[in-house]
Amino acid sequence: MTPPDEGALRVALVDAMRRAVADGLSNGTSGNASAALGDGRLLITPSGIAPEDLTPESIVLIGPDGEVLAAEAGVAPSTELDMHRTVYAVAPPGVAGAVMHTHSPYATAVACACDELPAVHYDIVALGGPVRVAPYVTFGSPELAAACAGALEDRNTALLGNHGAIAYGRTVRQAYDRTAKLEWIAALWWRTRALGEPRILSAPQLDDVRAQMARYRYQRGA
Ligand code: 13P
Ligand code: ZN
Repeated sequence: MTPPDEGALRVALVDAMRRAVADGLSNGTSGNASAALGDGRLLITPSGIAPEDLTPESIVLIGPDGEVLAAEAGVAPSTELDMHRTVYAVAPPGVAGAVMHTHSPYATAVACACDELPAVHYDIVALGGPVRVAPYVTFGSPELAAACAGALEDRNTALLGNHGAIAYGRTVRQAYDRTAKLEWIAALWWRTRALGEPRILSAPQLDDVRAQMARYRYQRGA
């Protein structure tokens, strides 16, 4: 397998952060994104810089032990570096090449009020099933990284209590698409509750969806 191209990943991270703003998934300096280089190093967005001001060169290069290998002058890695590193560490081998964290509006609303985002739509199987909400802990802390890891068990997506959302994917694109899908389902949950009591799909119904996807070889990119 060809190793990931560092220059292309830098551009992809900047594009994903800008697209998140354009698509209403992010605002201000909230959120961050990273990509693994496949050799223990990773790239992560700098802390406190709005997506419009990001450049490929401003993305910070991190070593296998979390140390900064290269950063522009005056630029620090995202305060959520620990959380990103933990996601790569706990994800099954080969499925986490990129991680995206946002404060997207509907997902964050669910994270402020609920213990999970239930299976209100069958497409939630693309996220691994109903999405857990990790308990609230302070941003940028090792406790947040641990809480996030717990909520991600058997899932590629999690909600962070009173904080936001996180998703990983093989590629930056897949991490982005899962972030967008989580937001879409969270918004659907909100709208459905405005109409009445949502009908939640059961575990056997979700198993049927998985079997149907396998039968059609349906590619769930996100
Ligand atoms: P950074 O700008 O340090 O990445 O922090 C944003 C954020 O969302 C913290 O959780
Ligand atoms: Zn955050």
